[in-house]
Amino acid sequence: MAIERTLSIIKPDATARNITGQIISRLEAEGLRVIAQKRVWWKKKDAKAFYEVHKGQPFFKDLITFMTSGPIVLQVLEGEDAIAKNRAVMGATNPVDAEPGTIRKDFAVNLQRNSVHGSDGPETAKREIALCFKKSEIVG
Ligand code: ATP
Ligand code: MG
Repeated sequence: MAIERTLSIIKPDATARNITGQIISRLEAEGLRVIAQKRVWWKKKDAKAFYEVHKGQPFFKDLITFMTSGPIVLQVLEGEDAIAKNRAVMGATNPVDAEPGTIRKDFAVNLQRNSVHGSDGPETAKREIALCFKKSEIVG
């Protein structure tokens, strides 16, 4: 397995409940290292660009409204097998289906307000990291 980088987002439902630290602890406990981090409040254009792949989905408009409803924390995580590892710690998209001990099982409100995002593959990770961070903001 290789050392990878992945993009993680702590979503507005989690920043609203002041649980960013608890979420980051879960990631660190699995050996993922935060090598870039910033708190931002996305404009609609930012959220639309990020979630472009979901354009046309019935949930797209509500997803953009949700992701621009409050601050979020953008992070680059680095570690062994980081992309799959982050997805595993996050749990299934719908918290009802998430395994016990995962972030979404323990913190997500529902399918939409599911607390975290994680890149779903190497190409996606590369695109999402470049979209959210300048090279100089990533300190590995
Ligand atoms: P993410 O991309 O945020 O890491 P994911 O890869 O598990 O989540 P996607 O299928 O990429 O899931 O969906 C992106 C996000 O859109 C979900 O995390 C969730 O917030 C929202 N979403 C997905 N499907 C639905 C749905 N059917 N109804 C409402 N919201 C949805
Ligand atoms: Mg996704």
